Parts: sequence; C-alpha cells; structure tokens
Amino acid sequence: MKSKIIVCLTFDFDAESVQIRQREELGRVSKGQFAINRGIPRILTLLKKHEIKATFFTCGWVADEYPESVKNILEDDHELAAHGYLHEHLNDLSLVEEKIIIKMMMESLNKFTTEIKGFRAPYWQLSHNTLKLISEAGLLYDSSLFSDDRPFILQSLNLVEFPVEWFLDDWVIFEIHQHSPNTAYEIWQSQFEAFINEDDVPSNRRIFTLTCHPAAIGHSYRLKILERLIEYMKTKEVIFLKMKDATDYILNKRPL
Ligand SMILES: [Zn+2]
Repeated sequence: MKSKIIVCLTFDFDAESVQIRQREELGRVSKGQFAINRGIPRILTLLKKHEIKATFFTCGWVADEYPESVKNILEDDHELAAHGYLHEHLNDLSLVEEKIIIKMMMESLNKFTTEIKGFRAPYWQLSHNTLKLISEAGLLYDSSLFSDDRPFILQSLNLVEFPVEWFLDDWVIFEIHQHSPNTAYEIWQSQFEAFINEDDVPSNRRIFTLTCHPAAIGHSYRLKILERLIEYMKTKEVIFLKMKDATDYILNKRPL
C-alpha cells in the first residue's frame, strides 16, 4: 500500500515589498497591499475552516511594516519562514551585501519567533552563496530549486530542499498569464493526481508543494478554487503539514 501524501501549502507573503524596492507608483504599490487588507485574512479563515497548518514565507520588511498580520499568522499556529528582506534579487548582490540582507531578514523575523527554519529565495533566484549563507544562519530547509519534483537533502549543507515549479505557482498562472481559476485547478489537480499514483516515491518524500501569493489567490473567485483543491485532496490519503514539520519527517526518516 502506498504511504500518505504530505501536502505543504505555502504562501509567499510579499505584500508591496517588490513595488517599494522598485520605487513604483502608488497604484502598483497598492496592488501588493491587497495581501494585507484581504489576502491574508481570507487565507487564514480558509485554513482555519479546514484545520490546515501552512507555511508563510515572509519578507523581513513586511514583518517590520505589518506586525499585526504576522502575529495573526502565528496565533493560528502557522509557520513563519524567510523570504529576503525587501524581496531582493539575491543573484545581483555581492557576498557582503547578501550577508547583510540575510542578517536583516533574520533579525526582523526573529522578533516574532525564534523558530525560523526555512527559506525561499525571492523570485526563486539564488546567488551561488545563498544556500551556504542560510545554512550558516541555522536554517534547515530551502524551497527555491527546480531540479526535482520530490524533496531531497543537500548533504554538504545539511539542508532539505523542497523543489518548486512555475506551474505550481498562482502568480504565474493568474497575474502573468491571466489564466482562469479553472485552468489553475486543472493544472494543480492533475499534477496532484499524477503524483499520488506514482509508485516509486519513497515514503517520506511523498510531498506535494503548492506556492500561492496572498495578493493573487486572495481574490474571492480564486480562493474558491484553492478550497476546491483542498476538498479534493481531503478525499485522498493526505496530511497537510508546515514545511518545518515535513523537514522533520525527512531528516529523521519518520514514518507517516
Ligand atoms: Zn516573493
């Protein structure tokens, strides 16, 4: 019999960090603020309704600017994880600059919890130093690489990697390609369905990861699709876990 599937629902909590760093005009900035006003509250309500714990990759600047939103995430027992300071292109930074950014990121997030275990690179773009630097910062996992569709261990760095994909990212589907929610559902559900039927996946690597952005998925007609997907997943043998708990299963070879 196949083991259960772990589902990690992840939310990249950028708010308007991208637009602020790029000095964009107020209209563009306000689009990011939708995450604060509607996205995060609606997502928290949905997760509570379905008794699911999730992971929120949050920029340090966002935590500084919107402490109440971060507190609400933690009060609902979700995971706070790291996502740059002001959504930097890490590959454009020198080693010294990147060290400063990672230090600022950790200091901002550690004001809320010292349980920061994971990192996702803004834009999924890493420098050649990033993984080493986050390992040195004490983090246990990363979720930014594309080299597999199952989690794996970067042995030399002692990091677990949860790979990502553009088609499992709501921003690409909704905001770049302007697809309908039904298209998102069709892609995500069919990938999930295919994955649960693969019979060569080791038991503690059966992890399905979805990436969403509060400013994108937080629109009601899109959130309904995420709920439909959750309801479908619940008809299968799944458990929903924060990524730091999934990391624990992998590192300690815990059976599900
Ligand atoms: Zn982001």
